[in-house]
Formats: sequence, structure tokens, C-alpha cells
Amino acid sequence: MTAGSRQAAGRPRGHGRGAVLRCVRRYRRFLLALHEAPDGDAVGSNLAMAAALAALGKEAQVVSADPVPRLFDFLPGVDEVLEPGEATGPWDVALLLDCSDADRVGGAATLVAQAAVVCNVDHHKTNQGFGHVRWVDPAAAATGELVYHLLQGLRALWTPAMAQCLYTAISTDTGSFRFEQTTAATHRIAARLIELGADPAQVVNNVYDTRSLASLRLLRLALERLEVHPDGHVAWITLPRPVLESAGASDEDAEGLVNYARSVEGVEVGLLFREVEDGRVKVSLRSRARVDVADLASVMGGGGHPRAAGCLLDGGLEVAVERVVSAAALAARSGRDHGTGG
Ligand code: 5GP
Ligand code: MN
Repeated sequence: MTAGSRQAAGRPRGHGRGAVLRCVRRYRRFLLALHEAPDGDAVGSNLAMAAALAALGKEAQVVSADPVPRLFDFLPGVDEVLEPGEATGPWDVALLLDCSDADRVGGAATLVAQAAVVCNVDHHKTNQGFGHVRWVDPAAAATGELVYHLLQGLRALWTPAMAQCLYTAISTDTGSFRFEQTTAATHRIAARLIELGADPAQVVNNVYDTRSLASLRLLRLALERLEVHPDGHVAWITLPRPVLESAGASDEDAEGLVNYARSVEGVEVGLLFREVEDGRVKVSLRSRARVDVADLASVMGGGGHPRAAGCLLDGGLEVAVERVVSAAALAARSGRDHGTGG
């Protein structure tokens, strides 16, 4: 038996919270990789887990292929997030929290491949089911809920910093406790996190009530570009490169604009088309109640949740708009005709 196959034979495999807890208890050196364009759930879940691992005497490095958005600068531990080139192995476990697909870690993928065990903890319904050990629960409102249960199971000593990171994860992924996946259990976890030292006012102030001037300039331009399909069920905003540049906007300044498209009275699906490099287009999809936009996005190579999903398309803005608007209009129409609940 070679060293490699011995290692493979001894590798843990399994599903669910217990399997993840056994894996975390057994190993010592962890690599945590954020998904591309990291959001509050990815940042908060990973920082909380890294702090808990350190408190248990383990080594944890958090890497991000893309910069962490500046609005999360207030989170404890954010300064320790590394670029993939700065991380130093070897690692026993690559722990991917909030990552629907192993490729979504972008430039950190080669590091993940070096770890002996890959562990996947996520709540995206489009999760690809990768990893030796995994816990995927699409009913969870945020990966932060799953990490809360893991930290309880690990019996790490809670700190206000961990609580603040997880509160931010859950607050952001539930749209501030507004989305339909927000349950009584979500609120109970949030309440417990406040008891453990999370500061909701600080989260609100940093995440929801503070905007860059560039993002406000972009909002004005975006609203001027809002279009509505003749049938009234789909609305969208396109952001060509020159528009983003004239606002002086960075990628994170476009965050949240898609919600304006969805908010139009009578609209079921809101879309944002943002031109990125090489003529590619980042599409954000949001639905109100009936259309499963994760299904729409996964047909186009992306993924996400029933009410919030995304994908990256080739071929330029015009082609992307034509393709996604017609698919969304069809889905909105058939959902209504069949009277389905989405
Ligand atoms: P956003 O529109 O805010 O970028 O993403 C909304 C949701 O869709 C998030 O849960 C995000 O993880 C998922 N998502 C966005 N873009 C992609 C993509 O290109 N691929 C996959 N698999 N998921 C995506
Ligand atoms: Mn999430």
C-alpha cells in the first residue's frame, strides 16, 4: 500500500453535523477558503470558525481569492484574511463554508487540492455535493446558522468576536431577517448571539446604513437604466463598464441594486446585469415568491437559492439580457398559469 492510498483509506467520509464535528475534532491544521465575491455569510462564518479553531488550539488560515468588501472591515479577525499566495501549508483539512461548488474558491482551488480532507458545509440548494465530509442543509437561512451549531458542538469558549461574526453572517444572508427562510430558529440563534456579545446596532450601522459615495452615484445611474418587461413580471438593470466607471464604482458598489428591480410593483423577478472583464456578464437574479431563480441560474452554469441566485455569462450584455429576461419571463408566466407556489 502506498503512502497516498494509506492516507486515502484513513480519510474520514460522512454526511451531517456529526461527521463534520468528528472531522474538526480529529485534525489540527485547517485551511478555510472564502467563495469568490465573498458576502457577509462567507466572511462571518469563516472568521467565526477560524476564531473557534484557534481557541481549541488548532491552526486555521483563512484565504480569499477576491478582496473582502470594505464594509466588513469592522469584523474582528478580518485583517488576518490572506491572499492565496500568502497561505502556507500543509493542511489536514480544507474547510469550505458557504461554498456551493469547489471551483467557487477561485484562485484558492490549488490550495484546497493540497489538503488531505475536503469538508463542505453549506446551505445552497445548488451545492454540488463535493468533499469527503459534508453537511449541506438548504433549509438553513445562512451558513452562519450551521456554523453556530458546529461551535456549540465543539464546545469552544464563545467570545463576543465570534458572536458578532455569526450575527453578521445570519443578518446579511436573511436580508436583515426579512427573507422567507428566516424562521423562529433563526431568531433564537440571533438572540443567543446577542447574549454572547454580538452588537446588532454596529452591524446595522456598518452594513446597511453606510454607503460609499460611488455606490450612491451608481444607484442614481442604475435607476435611470431600470427596464420592465411588457408583461410587467420581470424588471432589470444593465451596468455596462462605462457606467460603472463614470460612477467611480468598484464591484462591491453594485451590491443590492438588483433589489430595486425586484421591488417594482407587480414584478416577480428582478435582474442585474453587470459587465465584468473579457465581455463577460455577472447576472444577479432575485425573485419575490414564485419563481425558483436557483433553477434558472443553474441551467446557465450558476447557482444559489430559490429567491437569490447568480451566474456568469459569456457573449456580452445584449446576449445575456435577451437570454435571461426571456427565461425569467417564461418562468414567471408558467408559475402564474399553474398557480404553483414556486
Ligand atoms: P449575488 O447575486 O448576490 O452575487 O448572489 C446571490 C446568490 O447566488 C449567492 O448565494 C451566491 O452564492 C449565488 N451565486 C451568485 N453567482 C453565482 C455563480 O456564478 N455560481 C454559483 N454557483 N452561485 C452563484
Ligand atoms: Mn450563504
